Amino acid sequence: MSFADKALVCRDCNGSFVFTAGEQEFYASKGLQNEPVRCPSCRTARKNARSTEEEDGYVRYGAFASFGGRTPRQMHPATCAECGMMTEVPFVPRGDRPVYCSACYNKVRAETKAPSEL
Ligand SMILES: [Zn+2]
Ligand SMILES: [Zn+2]
Repeated sequence: MSFADKALVCRDCNGSFVFTAGEQEFYASKGLQNEPVRCPSCRTARKNARSTEEEDGYVRYGAFASFGGRTPRQMHPATCAECGMMTEVPFVPRGDRPVYCSACYNKVRAETKAPSEL
């Protein structure tokens, strides 16, 4: 299957943005038929507004993307082992350990933390 970059119009700001071939492949691999309806900046804005973070089913590891100012990491699509949401992780998912979205990662990490570490 091949994909090509596609120009879409953002529902929120009416600005055009590119639904890249890579994103299309990612969406397709997840069986999603809906195209994104918002440009990346509007998605980020909505995400920062919290409540609708999961609406697009797409969560990014914002904090990991730039690792304290170091060069941005190559991000890899993955499915959260906890909630099944799509996310991106700064390493290649190998299948030998669960991958979590940022929300679940924080939750799981908090739960698995030994009481003595608290
Ligand atoms: Zn927009
Ligand atoms: Zn999750």
